[in-house]
Amino acid sequence: MCLSNHYARNAALYNRNMKQYEVAVGGGGIIGLSVALALKQRGMDVVLIDEPRAGMASLAAAGMLAADDPENPPELHALSLHSVALYPEYLDHLEMLGGQRVVWETSATLQKHVHAPIADRVSAHRFTRSVPALSALEDFVLLQEHSLDPRKLHAAAQSAVDAAGVKRIAASVRATDELPHGITITLSNGDKIEVQRYVDCTGAWMRSVPQAVTPRKGQMMRVRLGDMLHTERFGNVVLRTPEIYVVPRLDGSAIIGATVEDIGFDLSTHEDALERVQQTAAELVPAIAHAPRIEQWAGLRPGTRDDLPLIGALTERHFVAGGHFRNGILLAPATAEAVADLIFGNAPQVDLSAFQPLRFGLGEPHPVFAQPS
Ligand SMILES: Cc1cc2nc3c(=O)[nH]c(=O)nc-3n(C[C@H](O)[C@H](O)[C@H](O)COP(=O)(O)OP(=O)(O)OC[C@H]3O[C@@H](n4cnc5c(N)ncnc54)[C@H](O)[C@@H]3O)c2cc1C
Repeated sequence: MCLSNHYARNAALYNRNMKQYEVAVGGGGIIGLSVALALKQRGMDVVLIDEPRAGMASLAAAGMLAADDPENPPELHALSLHSVALYPEYLDHLEMLGGQRVVWETSATLQKHVHAPIADRVSAHRFTRSVPALSALEDFVLLQEHSLDPRKLHAAAQSAVDAAGVKRIAASVRATDELPHGITITLSNGDKIEVQRYVDCTGAWMRSVPQAVTPRKGQMMRVRLGDMLHTERFGNVVLRTPEIYVVPRLDGSAIIGATVEDIGFDLSTHEDALERVQQTAAELVPAIAHAPRIEQWAGLRPGTRDDLPLIGALTERHFVAGGHFRNGILLAPATAEAVADLIFGNAPQVDLSAFQPLRFGLGEPHPVFAQPS
């Protein structure tokens, strides 16, 4: 037998012993779960590979759908608005499949915005004078914007993914090897699977595009605030400035955040940093200075150099959806839809050119990669 036939025969036997799926999604944060669900919805045989890690952003987030935050890059606006529009249906779908309803915790935000039209700033100022707990806020505007509890969202998405019949593997993706007929994925437990497509949604740990995504740590806290930010007109109201935000929850607690730190995969929390965040928030709501803390934590935002996500194809088979930095909860439904459209060869609903995964010119995609633990 000639040598090439011998290899071809062995490869065929080997492939028959390997589990095969149409598509694998790496990473079970909100982006991976949403992508897996969207692909399953379109009839694909999907496997989700995830080994939860401390610092996972989706469980650390505040949960604001901050499409109109003036701190966001303008290129994000169309995708953000589209995602906001998809949200009600996305939440209905999660509930229908997995039985868990995720409700809006807030539906209005007071946003510091010095460049907003003066009439908007004056009307927000008048409004804040009617809320006893607030200092009268200068240069704020009132946004119609929702927030939700991202931990509840993540749990609801996990239930929906399971109910939809997505296969889940509790392991890490160690390496991907793209062959003419598919991609072989080597898992941390030593198993290999073969897929037609792979979508890398591994958050701050993403290595498909070398050095494109880095962890940006955020330290946050939850305090007991009661109904101090409750208003008759809008229910609970979020406060946001370029430095901090206060996000009330329906249970009377409030999330206060957050630092943005470039110090790698570090998850420590520090009293001086948290105290600074709390005192800055107290300049808006004086009672926050003495609000009892319920918990504190740090999470790893998947950051990129231009604060825009990577959404797109590296090759015909290898896709990425990551680097959502401060807005992954907001952008999950639109990202999932965009990835599904790309895989099915449909034109995406929103122009994705600003999110090209190889825009930093960091060379070829990296088929085999080592993961930090
Ligand atoms: C403090 C803070 C506040 C935030 N507030 C908001 C907010 O108000 N609104 C908003 O929209 N966004 C917010 N964000 C951002 C948002 O949380 C993220 O953009 C989003 O959660 C990213 O989701 P993800 O699925 O890409 O990553 P992650 O949630 O980090 O999930 C990545 C997953 O991939 C897994 N993984 C890693 N490597 C591998 C591997 N090799 N194989 C398999 N699995 C792997 C990890 O274990 C993890 O489960 C905030 C983030 C932080 C940290």
